[in-house]
Amino acid sequence: MEGGIQVGCNCDCNCNSKNLSQDEILQIFKDTGALLQGHFLLTSGKHSAQYMQCAQVLQYPIKAEALCKELAVKFENFEIDTVIAPAVGGIVVAYEVGRALGVKAIFTERQNGEMTLRRGFELAPGEKVLVVEDVITTGGSVKEVIKVVKEVGAIPVGVGVLVDRSGGKAEFEGLRLNSLIQMNIEVFEPDNCPLCAKGLPAEKPGSRK
Ligand SMILES: [Zn+2]
Repeated sequence: MEGGIQVGCNCDCNCNSKNLSQDEILQIFKDTGALLQGHFLLTSGKHSAQYMQCAQVLQYPIKAEALCKELAVKFENFEIDTVIAPAVGGIVVAYEVGRALGVKAIFTERQNGEMTLRRGFELAPGEKVLVVEDVITTGGSVKEVIKVVKEVGAIPVGVGVLVDRSGGKAEFEGLRLNSLIQMNIEVFEPDNCPLCAKGLPAEKPGSRK
């Protein structure tokens, strides 16, 4: 545990870190600028000591591949036929998890606000589908993907995310949820911020060079 960050398996399957150690996973997020530590001014007006921008880690294919392989391992006994993700954030994750599992990877996207399969992507009835995403907070997009999968008669068998920010609240119809990192970022009101109290200068995330 580091702050509100927990690395490693959140399930009871004993599938922890077959490729990367927990420290290595955390270090990849830090090295790529996906996980920032400091004193941040959030768009909500609140302050925090941590900030996560998952897309930063996916800039680097070798690192994305390593993380997604780690995620894929957690589902290696699920007989997955296809990996699916909601666009845009999940596309790279689906692609790399699909590569690791040796299966097809597709994505859903919104058309007139509704999550749908486009571009000729298809799922067959009975196909076993793993839903993945880069980061979840409420898990809303993942739920919409699960609905799309079920509508065509395919079978959602699990949900895999790089970062779970739901605080354990995300629930997907009893499906196994696995993540590499679970984060609860503590936020402070500006007039009650321990970092401000220490006199640490605050920055907007992304402004660091
Ligand atoms: Zn502050």
